[in-house]
Amino acid sequence: MPQVAECSECGNMRPLFKQCPHCGSSNLPRLLTDTIEVNLKLGQPLVEEAIENLGDHIRDAHALGIKAIVLIHGYGSSGEGGHIKRAVHQALEGNYFSDRVDDFYYGETVPYGSEGYHALIKRRPGLKAYLQRFKAGNAGITVLLLNTSSRSA
Ligand SMILES: [Zn+2]
Repeated sequence: MPQVAECSECGNMRPLFKQCPHCGSSNLPRLLTDTIEVNLKLGQPLVEEAIENLGDHIRDAHALGIKAIVLIHGYGSSGEGGHIKRAVHQALEGNYFSDRVDDFYYGETVPYGSEGYHALIKRRPGLKAYLQRFKAGNAGITVLLLNTSSRSA
């Protein structure tokens, strides 16, 4: 994950989630972007763990004011990658995260330069930097658009 936040206490760059590695602060960091990447395969979790982690990430990202999440789940035809992708699709289509996720786009439906891509970039310009490298789409990712309406400025 690129560095997207700075510590609200010591001002150093820090990861979005968990504590500041510099000063140990667990306060919410200051955001430097409205788009983040989350890799669900990190640590090779079981499918249930991956979906649970996703729920945590969505909740935290929403609380921070993040507007879009580029979700990396892999697409292996066998093995955990494929299982996680299927579980993510099921959860999204079952409105499992609909209290915070407004919309979602499977990577294979938004290849760079396509109509879907342009429509998506128009809604969330911050996604351009993440998606422009996928000329033929990317079946291993899903883009989540978080709702921002319930958040007071
Ligand atoms: Zn700090």
